[in-house]
Amino acid sequence: MTDSVARDTADTSGGAVALATAAISISRATKVFRVAKGAEVRALDDIDLTVAPGEFVSLIGPSGCGKSTLLRLIADLDEASSGEVLVFGKTARQARIDQEYGIAFQSAGLLPWRTVQANIELPLELHGVGRADRTARAEELIELVGLTDFRSRYPDQLSGGMQQRVAIARSLAERPKLLLMDEPFGALDEMTRERMQQELVRICSETGAAVVFVTHSIPEAVFLSDRVVVMSPRPGRIVGIVDVNLGPGTERSEILRENPAFFAGVTAVREALHGKPGAPLGADPR
Ligand code: ADP
Ligand code: MG
Repeated sequence: MTDSVARDTADTSGGAVALATAAISISRATKVFRVAKGAEVRALDDIDLTVAPGEFVSLIGPSGCGKSTLLRLIADLDEASSGEVLVFGKTARQARIDQEYGIAFQSAGLLPWRTVQANIELPLELHGVGRADRTARAEELIELVGLTDFRSRYPDQLSGGMQQRVAIARSLAERPKLLLMDEPFGALDEMTRERMQQELVRICSETGAAVVFVTHSIPEAVFLSDRVVVMSPRPGRIVGIVDVNLGPGTERSEILRENPAFFAGVTAVREALHGKPGAPLGADPR
């Protein structure tokens, strides 16, 4: 048992997190970049955040507030200057070695000389999974993301939305319990983007993966998330966490976008971003 488990278990307000190891547990994390001539950029300051298994959490805030940096700390692509980042109770480094998460970023990052199927199989191939198992898993994923007729195509024969679906399928190849996504739909047109959000909701409910999702879009964050983490301009701090309460049994489908609970969530996030007092916010209660 790690500290984070003990802390979460002791805190009964943590509800969903209690008794299970948190997917992510960040305490007092800071990130300072050293730039030219001894100057410093304080990108993140005093970040505390816990993400429960299966929970969908978005990070939102103005450009340059440290959203990508925070995601990079979790993914062990960068190291915190101080504080602690645990992923399933392990150090970020150990979690990376153990392949505890999948990653999808804004550009799909597909290999142009590989087909859809071969791109999805790549992580499995790199980790020594045999051909028959690779093919079977890729087939499942291709079906999950709705690309059955496109399995033999190359990335430049696909639309942006399709490429992004391939990237998501690839990030799911090793059945991660956690997905880290940095503006994965940022380059898509609005209609495709809404369709992809819908797809992602479905995929997450089918796989039970926790997600940390970086976005600029308030409606996107509210549509997708259990909680929206609102960050301030540099140095990036968490200024509020909006719980998206859609009411029992409310599905995240297209009609949600016209639901008063959805508008209430959008308003709460907008007010938090603009630093309005009185929004139903607070520090991370966990
Ligand atoms: P966001 O994703 O919210 O737009 P980033 O996390 O990319 O913001 O960046 C946060 C701040 O840290 C920015 O001011 C950015 O210029 C700075 N930064 C990010 N990476 C580096 C780096 N490798 N070296 C120096 N400064 C960096
Ligand atoms: Mg970014």
